[in-house]
Amino acid sequence: MEKVDEEKIETLLKELTLEEKIGMIHGGGLFRTSGVERLSIPPLIMSDGPMGVRKEFQNDTWLAAGTTDDFVTYLPSNSAIAATWNRQLAKNSGKVLGEEARGRGKDVILAPGINIQRSPLCGRNFEYMSEDPFLISELAVPLIEGIQDNTDTAACVKHFAANSQETGRLHVDTYLEERTLREIYLPGFLAAVKRAGSLTIMGAYNRLQGEHCSHSRQLLDQILRQEWEYDGVVISDWGAVHDTKEAADSSLDIEMSVTNQFDEYYMANPLKEAILSGEISEEAVDAKVRNILRLMFRLNMLGESAKQRVSGIYNTPEHRQAALDTARESIVLLKNEQHRLPLAKNKLRKVAVIGQNAVKQHSNGGGSAEIKALYEISPLMGLKKLLGGNTEVLYARGYDIPKKFEEGKQSGQAASQQEYFKEAVALAGSCDDVIFIGGLNHDYDIEGRDRLDMKLPYDQDLLIEALLDANPNTIIVLMAGAPVEMPWADRAKAIVWYSYAGMEGGTALAEVLLGERNPSGKLAITIPEKLSDSPAHKFGDFGKEGTITFREGVFVGYRYFDTYSVKPRFAFGHGLSYTTFEYCDLELTLEEEVGMDYSDKVFTAEDVITPLDVTVGVTIKNVGEYDGAEIVQVYVCDKEASVPRPFHELKGFEKIFLKAGEEKRVEIPLNKEAFGFYQEERQCFVAEAGIFEIQVGAASDDIRLKEEFELESGYAYRI
Ligand code: BGC
Repeated sequence: MEKVDEEKIETLLKELTLEEKIGMIHGGGLFRTSGVERLSIPPLIMSDGPMGVRKEFQNDTWLAAGTTDDFVTYLPSNSAIAATWNRQLAKNSGKVLGEEARGRGKDVILAPGINIQRSPLCGRNFEYMSEDPFLISELAVPLIEGIQDNTDTAACVKHFAANSQETGRLHVDTYLEERTLREIYLPGFLAAVKRAGSLTIMGAYNRLQGEHCSHSRQLLDQILRQEWEYDGVVISDWGAVHDTKEAADSSLDIEMSVTNQFDEYYMANPLKEAILSGEISEEAVDAKVRNILRLMFRLNMLGESAKQRVSGIYNTPEHRQAALDTARESIVLLKNEQHRLPLAKNKLRKVAVIGQNAVKQHSNGGGSAEIKALYEISPLMGLKKLLGGNTEVLYARGYDIPKKFEEGKQSGQAASQQEYFKEAVALAGSCDDVIFIGGLNHDYDIEGRDRLDMKLPYDQDLLIEALLDANPNTIIVLMAGAPVEMPWADRAKAIVWYSYAGMEGGTALAEVLLGERNPSGKLAITIPEKLSDSPAHKFGDFGKEGTITFREGVFVGYRYFDTYSVKPRFAFGHGLSYTTFEYCDLELTLEEEVGMDYSDKVFTAEDVITPLDVTVGVTIKNVGEYDGAEIVQVYVCDKEASVPRPFHELKGFEKIFLKAGEEKRVEIPLNKEAFGFYQEERQCFVAEAGIFEIQVGAASDDIRLKEEFELESGYAYRI
């Protein structure tokens, strides 16, 4: 993060009255703090959220401002970005967010959300990226860099930390072992803070080992400030602060909340009174104001440089292109028997499109991630605009979505359900080509509540079975932010998966179905066959109010499935292409400091010498007939660990584009941090001497090549 002249901060700080400082550290509107006009300190203005800049609200009520100038670029969700496995696309999405936030006059964009997708049921999975901390880190870093590079906008990475369920979210107390925290739940945040320099971070709603995350000593003071040396701004989630003294004494800088009693916030009048009565020292407030002023200097909000502040821009053709590029690569082809896809565009005369996600607009839902999209191309529109007038596209909705979603009742039936069902099945029987487009929507993928089960809602499973009876060639497309059961999967020849893919999602889907684009997304999550296979549900607690324990430990997602040989429906990293890739000539190049004794040393990221570097070289050939992209994945397997470790862990990947017939050599570096596990006694990571296997594959369950090497001297490190 950019260094700021600390003297300038001190000079300003001295000018401020207690009242003014208090105004700067809590919400003075629903999305802003108070400024200090006499010193030209502006308020800090924030906005959600991950998929674009949220609509304008009135300052002190949750009512929309109701203007027509706040439509924006609707970007693919983080779950969609993650499925691209493309760092450049993550960066481009970040750039759109940063430019549009500034263009709309914001200082902080409350994104990205990077919590671990621990259970298929978490209502906010669609806002998050993956079950894997390495993939999250690799994509969150460019995304945050994109937001902040030359935009004078701050990212606000959220929700710190272990915020993986919505049930009882304001108080739920989360217990997990230190090792699990360090290996699974913290690396994404560490990367966001240290590598990407996220200028702000949001404390989560939940509690962690008894402490509210937004004023947690362990998370904010010890880990974030002391260990990670963070000098950015910590913002609470909205309403996540519960105690004046705890908040004042902790490393939290700004309290935000959901009520308009701004003076009553814990860090407003109650704090001022506690300071005046001598109960809390004013120094606690000064520490927070210093961080806020530092942020304002970094964003060119203060002094002379404010005149040169970047102005930003929104709704440009380039932004829409970025949304389309990402949507295209986010589509995952899960199954494609008998080359059912792509459909031959020029031969299609009569196509049936069935299912509500063919027509539904999703942008304006999901909770704080909602977007007032400039437009949203539905799949039906995408298909029609690509097919043109010579193809008859017949639509049937297939199932009913009850108007009012009743909490706790996930498959409300409507009288019309039977009719929709019959109409759809009859249509499927009368067409050669049938595309079903269903899945979830923001009645399920939503902030504030978790799903109750992993089934498709609205009796879609019954409908899909009936469609497959009527036409066994029916193509199944599911749009969802989290895994669903697919009991009919063995019968379907083609299954396509994607998440909320932004304003051009429908265009991208149509291009893939019709062969104009070769799909190149891969799952950033495991899709279990059934909920009870999911480790969070098998071993741990999920969806309870009160206290939950992450008893599955580090065995989250594929770390569990692949270690315990439980076959998922579709594995982490899986995704097909219209072409075929071959892997050959795996070669490991080792740079190891042989014969060294590192028993007393703990390496850090700053160390120039490193105990181990491995470069994984592999040749990938496109042996099919389509140009396409492959995501080459590198997993590390510690064969002789002294503690239970996952069978393998993702530690490198590269997405490469190959023309039909082309081959390329890929070199993927693994550094010292790829080999260790967290040891609580030593409070650092440890890579033990012994045999490691490097696995290179197309998915976590599709390892094509592997090779072992021996690490001669073990070593310890901090990340
Ligand atoms: C959400 C945050 C969001 C904030 C402001 C909270 O309810 O958890 O992600 O940024 O509201 O809308």
